[in-house]
Amino acid sequence: MTDLVERSLAARLVMIGRQGSGKGEQCGRLAQRLQLDHVSTGELLRSAVRAGSTLGRTSEAYVVRGEPVPDHIVAGIVSARIAEAQAGGRGVVLDGFPRTVRQAERLSEMLAPASIDLAIHLDVPRATAVERIQNRRECPSCRTATSSVECPICRTHTERRADDWPAAIGRRMSDFAREMGPLLEWYAERGVLETVDGVGTPAQVAERVANAVDRRICASVRSR
Ligand code: AMP
Repeated sequence: MTDLVERSLAARLVMIGRQGSGKGEQCGRLAQRLQLDHVSTGELLRSAVRAGSTLGRTSEAYVVRGEPVPDHIVAGIVSARIAEAQAGGRGVVLDGFPRTVRQAERLSEMLAPASIDLAIHLDVPRATAVERIQNRRECPSCRTATSSVECPICRTHTERRADDWPAAIGRRMSDFAREMGPLLEWYAERGVLETVDGVGTPAQVAERVANAVDRRICASVRSR
């Protein structure tokens, strides 16, 4: 395990999955396990909205409607977070970016001459994902994701996410279904795609993700 952490210190990973696939949870676990920065575009945008910053005011209407925030805004946030991680000698696991081939191309320009080591497709059927979203809640205080009405960490009353309402869920699912095929193909053509079954308990899925990373990171980081 220590060996893997050492090899993965500068790894660049992408997690691709529809909303409700559990990618936030899995990216968090992976980041902790491999000491990577977890860069979640959805979380960065939601916290900007909560803070009322310029970024938040520009993005709020898109986020609440479940519509994509314009590429130049999202790419700007991701680029800044990657630079921050690199300055600290850390790798990243990207959660929610890229969502389209255009964004993948943009990411590839940002990273050049380096590239993504591994893109993990967290595969969960649409019906399962919708059911999970309908049950998910978030703690307004410590941001823990849970299905319970009380935060398991700080006991605060939890809330539904502002964008977890039927029309916005439907829009995000349809956008993802349209964009996912070409995006997965883009990474498959570059030989860095691994599909992981996302159905199961968080611990079971984390084990599968860890195995996929183990196989790929050993090969790609060693050959740099
Ligand atoms: P998520 O937490 O991944 O479900 O993202 C929540 C919302 O943030 C999305 O519905 C979009 O409005 C916005 N967002 C997150 N990532 C992206 C992205 N890569 N491109 C465009 N919009 C994004």
